Amino acid sequence: MAFWQTQIGPHYDGDTRSLGSLRCIGELVCPDCENVMARLFDDPKGLAVSAWVPAADSSVANPNSRRVGWTFFALLDDSMPDEESAPLRCWRGHDHLIATARDCRAAEAVYRRTGRKKRVAISRIDPDEVR
Ligand SMILES: [Zn+2]
Repeated sequence: MAFWQTQIGPHYDGDTRSLGSLRCIGELVCPDCENVMARLFDDPKGLAVSAWVPAADSSVANPNSRRVGWTFFALLDDSMPDEESAPLRCWRGHDHLIATARDCRAAEAVYRRTGRKKRVAISRIDPDEVR
């Protein structure tokens, strides 16, 4: 998984963290429930992506337990191909989701054109294709 460059955490009952003073220009949301799964930030060095991903063993089967997850970070510069991708899991239990560099750049392009933060629903993947 070359998409993420940094993993921070664990965090509990989390959400993606803001990145200092960087402006949030887009959000990647779950296609099933529109839960925000990752945020995009306008970084001078490129497009910064921060995601909060629940750990696999923090299950919806025990809704009273605190859920634990990890914050991932990536900086999308020109060297990252559009096809580079990261599997994501919605913390409301929707799985087999994937974010691509192309999704992030599409949101950024809308922001550049309109000046407004853009929400993008990420894609589902066929579970049989998950390695
Ligand atoms: Zn969801």
